[in-house]
Amino acid sequence: MTDLCIVIPLYNEESNIPSLSRRLMKVMEDVSLRWEVIFVNDGSSDQTLKMLEDMACRNPSLKVISLTRNFGHQAALMAGLDHAEADAVITMDGDLQDPPELIPELIGRWQEGFQVVYARRTNFRKDHVLKRWLSMFYYYILRSFHMSTAPRNVGDFRLIDGKVLSELKNMRERTRYLRGMISWLGFQAAFVDYKRPDRKDGRAGYSFSQLVRLAMDGFFNFSRLPLRIGLFLGVISILIGLGFLVYMVADILVNDVYYHLYKLLVDVIFIFMGFLFILIWILGEYIGRIYHEVKGRDLYIIHKKVNLDESIRADIQITDVLNESPDPQL
Ligand code: UDP
Ligand code: MG
Repeated sequence: MTDLCIVIPLYNEESNIPSLSRRLMKVMEDVSLRWEVIFVNDGSSDQTLKMLEDMACRNPSLKVISLTRNFGHQAALMAGLDHAEADAVITMDGDLQDPPELIPELIGRWQEGFQVVYARRTNFRKDHVLKRWLSMFYYYILRSFHMSTAPRNVGDFRLIDGKVLSELKNMRERTRYLRGMISWLGFQAAFVDYKRPDRKDGRAGYSFSQLVRLAMDGFFNFSRLPLRIGLFLGVISILIGLGFLVYMVADILVNDVYYHLYKLLVDVIFIFMGFLFILIWILGEYIGRIYHEVKGRDLYIIHKKVNLDESIRADIQITDVLNESPDPQL
């Protein structure tokens, strides 16, 4: 078991790998811990895998896990974390937006006794205005409904202690939203501030729809509050409906008039039809998630490993049988 393991997911990063490895190696030269790096190739279609394999052949501390196809950033991270066995694990992006030079500082805070050390960005994002606003609004909602205690301005560049890692591996849910899960675990956290640079080369692998999906995972996986919106809207709609009924009956009895209040009523019914549809959608979200969890599918499929022994999966299968666990991953 090593002291420190660095997990780096990579998707079509051939143009960034040379400077990534150069900068990383330079930093690691001065780190006195025993370390290893697990690169996870997330189904790249460029030279990423070949370059990683070349590096791994020359240096046994560099390990490679290659997935059969593109499973997404979070699944790639999990693949790396599942294979990490160390006293501390650092996860970072491979596009040099997470500067390797910060690693000694992360280690320093960990050695002070913190179990989670986040790298926190201090500069503004240069994303599209719309993306920035949406993200601000999203985190505002998460925080104001106490759905997530995830700290502000942190991404997946962080160090976690071995204890946090084993708790993380024990969390059995399939839909992974690592940021939320780690803050949910609630270990002692520290921050290291840094200016996050722009992506060095290549293009962002996250599409807009993937971002929306990640955001929804953060929203629905950590709270059942959206389900309770039904109660709130239901009570309001009943009160309004009753109000109308009382009004009409009183008007007819007292004033002996008849007028077309039903027009308004039809309008109101239409509005609540909208709410009903939203509720059905929310139910669908949860049912979809139950379906996803119940399927118990592997989070990712490994095509190839370099410098990593095969026994890890075998061990998992043995404990699996002993515990009669329905989850082949844990
Ligand atoms: N990545 C991945 N699989 C994907 C998309 C991205 O492994 O499907 C990797 C990517 O190579 C990079 C990291 O995850 O190392 C962060 O991705 P990206 O830079 O696209 O995210 P952003 O910085 O825009 O949040
Ligand atoms: Mg990036």
